[in-house]
Amino acid sequence: MNHLEADNRSSLLPRVTIDREALQANWRTLARLNRTGRTGAAVKANGYGLGAVPVALALAEAGCRDFFTAWVEEGAELRPALDEAGIGDARIYILQGVDLTDIPLCLDARLTPVLSTLAQIAAWGEGLERADRRAPAALQFETGMNRLGLDESALPIVEAAMHGALDVSMVMSHLASADEDPDQSEHQRARFMGIADRFPGAERSLANSAACFLGPDYTLDLTRPGIALYGGRAGPQSDGRPNTVATLSAAVLQIREARTGERAGYGGSARLERPTRIATVGLGYADGYLRTLSGAGIPMRGLSPGPHAVLAGHSVPILGRISMDLTLLDVTDLPEDAIQPGDRAEFFGPNVALDEVAAAAGTIGYELLTGLGQRVRRSWSSPIARVEHSREARYSE
Ligand SMILES: *Cc1c(COP(=O)(O)O)cnc(C)c1O
Repeated sequence: MNHLEADNRSSLLPRVTIDREALQANWRTLARLNRTGRTGAAVKANGYGLGAVPVALALAEAGCRDFFTAWVEEGAELRPALDEAGIGDARIYILQGVDLTDIPLCLDARLTPVLSTLAQIAAWGEGLERADRRAPAALQFETGMNRLGLDESALPIVEAAMHGALDVSMVMSHLASADEDPDQSEHQRARFMGIADRFPGAERSLANSAACFLGPDYTLDLTRPGIALYGGRAGPQSDGRPNTVATLSAAVLQIREARTGERAGYGGSARLERPTRIATVGLGYADGYLRTLSGAGIPMRGLSPGPHAVLAGHSVPILGRISMDLTLLDVTDLPEDAIQPGDRAEFFGPNVALDEVAAAAGTIGYELLTGLGQRVRRSWSSPIARVEHSREARYSE
């Protein structure tokens, strides 16, 4: 499939429709908030499930030049697409870093690894030597999350490596609670600034989506928003919800009439207390519509009203257990002729907030997006224009 073409061929497959203008508008909002430096984009995990290449091209068109992926393989997929679109100068950072076997691909695709351990720094040095190349790297420091990064105590060894092949273009750290705990964020920020002072020639990056709203002390030289680009809530600081970007929909395959006392779905977990019209829809947990969203038969998360979809302009509850490929909707309260097979129900989007669906499933919007199944058709609201911009990559051989 050509990523540059809108793909709106009708199909019964579950579909996530991606609003390109909304995605770009969200990036521009974050870029406007940032008065101190550049605004990048986290496009790891296949662009939060929406498609890394088309997402990156849309963001590049809005002006983004810094992309963050988790793995070398993800970055290597992105590079030719960005080159082809005339943005060879874009930087692609690899958040998980590299081992020795990754380095040839990393160099070929002009990726910037984020090195987080002394072993990675050593491997990077050896890889550069073997390839007889020079290339910049970024460093991640651990400042209070205890997840991934160099400890401050590694600084002397890092500084020694910088007398050799290690060329540090950026230093970063990651905040544990940018959305909920200002004290922890401030503590991490202070530690990070102390470390960053030791790298006067390197750019500094600290902010995920939530921290983009915390002002210039956090935005620094480069921000790395992810979820807020894709329409997810980035925390209470983010007054004004981001524009909805992703709409998950699925087609009605059959409409059935069931009698009081009958049961519906696996395990017969939904017992019908009235004559019930059921719409069977082609979407299931294999598509990333989590089984914990079932209307009955699964321990719920104490949420009311329970999970629902929107069909023909009406909110309709999920009935019984979600199965691998199918979900049942109780459409009894819809007007008689309101729906027919082939009509599509919205499972999240402008009418059903992603974060509310996530809360009903006991999770977060990030997991719903990144968990969208492979067979969910990614469909763009409008074609991605070629980016009118060309500048040669600045990357030393
Ligand atoms: C995923 C990730 C981000 C983006 O986080 P959001 O909360 O989606 O904005 C930024 N930095 C790092 C290190 C990440 O792993």
